[in-house]
Amino acid sequence: MLRRQARLRREYLYRKSSEEKQKNIQAKKDQLKRSLEENIPIHGDLRKEAIALQKRIEYEDKGPERAAVIGGFSGGANTLNSQDDEYRYAGVEDPKIMITTSREPSARLKMFVKELRLIFPNSQRMNRGGYEMSQLIHACRANDVTDFIVVHEHRGVPDSLVICHLPYGPTASFTLSGVVMRHDIPDIGPMSEQYPHLIFHNFKTDLGLRTMSILKYLFPVPKADSKRVITFANNDDYICFRQHIYKKVCDMPVPDFLKEPLTLYELAEQYWDLRAYPTQYVFSLLALVSDDKLERDKCMELSSPEGQEDWLNYSRRPKRTVLEVLHDFHKSTSKLTIEIIFELFCTIKPRSFSIASSCLTSRGTRIDILVAVVKYYSKLKKPRLGLASNWLKCLRVGDKVYGWIKMGSLKFPTDTHKIKEYSQDLWHLINDKGAYIYISGNAKNMPDNVREAFIEDVFSKEGKLDLDQAKAMLASIERDGRLQVETW
Ligand SMILES: Cc1cc2nc3c(=O)[nH]c(=O)nc-3n(C[C@H](O)[C@H](O)[C@H](O)COP(=O)(O)OP(=O)(O)OC[C@H]3O[C@@H](n4cnc5c(N)ncnc54)[C@H](O)[C@@H]3O)c2cc1C
Repeated sequence: MLRRQARLRREYLYRKSSEEKQKNIQAKKDQLKRSLEENIPIHGDLRKEAIALQKRIEYEDKGPERAAVIGGFSGGANTLNSQDDEYRYAGVEDPKIMITTSREPSARLKMFVKELRLIFPNSQRMNRGGYEMSQLIHACRANDVTDFIVVHEHRGVPDSLVICHLPYGPTASFTLSGVVMRHDIPDIGPMSEQYPHLIFHNFKTDLGLRTMSILKYLFPVPKADSKRVITFANNDDYICFRQHIYKKVCDMPVPDFLKEPLTLYELAEQYWDLRAYPTQYVFSLLALVSDDKLERDKCMELSSPEGQEDWLNYSRRPKRTVLEVLHDFHKSTSKLTIEIIFELFCTIKPRSFSIASSCLTSRGTRIDILVAVVKYYSKLKKPRLGLASNWLKCLRVGDKVYGWIKMGSLKFPTDTHKIKEYSQDLWHLINDKGAYIYISGNAKNMPDNVREAFIEDVFSKEGKLDLDQAKAMLASIERDGRLQVETW
């Protein structure tokens, strides 16, 4: 046993040291990549190994980058350093969990442990008895337990949960509050023991990601058709825990985005257009659920053909958003069901933006867009804000924006010589009718080419002037303000 522990420790130290080496090489590769992308001289220290490093960039970086995108380095952990190397087998081998209590547990704490055993698949209960903590840990290590959980109580109320990942940690201690057990909820039915899908909300900082790893890897990988969902939602460092079973209520085709479990918060944040202008259909839905007579009558009126003018005045012309309408009809809103909410909100549509930069200067590596931020006033006091342009405005440097490139539909004509083609008409218009010439467009070669075409094809050819006379005629027209140029 001791030899095994010593070997595991050696392996851990070896991994840590090789990771340090890897980190240094990666730092050099990143520095070289930056120099190449930004076209700045390669640092003196890197010059000798630059070619070798560049080859490594080509062959090595794509794999780990992809791994980081889909779940991380070393078997799917969320952080790229050795702290979380303990989770390198996560997702490959199922966790094995042992749960115990503090000494002399109350009946309620024992009940809570039973419940935890149902929450964490692959877990076992262990009577605490008179064992020392070190003895328990030793026994768990010897039996390949991956996580050891201890629950504590205060006067029969579970008040803390310690999760210790074996063999080397991390160990996290959580305070428990507002514990509601299955037995506290009437008519709840039996608890599903399917491997659950997990939802983690708002675990974004380094500490958050690490906490997420600790909780996430207590659960084995679920089957795609599992109906059980467990949510950990972080609000100001309070992690709310919920578990649900979901069932399909109708056979409507489900968009790809909704095929994974999502919180309502995520839907409201990323899927529904809450600034959309409500159609008459929205009012008919509110009328359907409402049990307030006044609100229901108004909604029915606004959704009817006779009420169209009222609907335009109340909703469309002042550009009232769907959220503002729900606020106005709050009694009916409180009766909305999840099915009706899905009917009521429309989804966010993608917005197009023209590429404002040239692919020649950026070598296809970056795109600039020029966005006019939509903000205007209707008769309402609050300004109306465009959804996408204001979202773009609020982004910070480094934030990710997902998009795709569509081919444009504009096609420019091939080279044409319209001045030459219509030279006779143009001579007649300019010479006999006193026509004006306006040149507008690209400032580079176009204005001179147009001038030359007038001199050679119109004045010289049609007016029978020699080249100097033709030039003088164009100059005189320009002096009189009959030739005006606006180019950029
Ligand atoms: C091919 C193509 C290329 C485009 N290129 C660009 C580009 O390069 N840059 C760019 O900024 N936009 C561009 N647009 C427009 C862009 O796609 C968005 O429509 C625009 O950014 C507004 O989106 P939003 O989500 O901010 O506004 P939304 O939430 O969609 O609101 C826009 C709506 O607000 C209303 N509205 C806006 N201003 C007023 C007003 N003053 N009074 C009353 N109602 C008003 C209109 O009903 C409009 O439909 C392009 C669109 C297309 C189709």
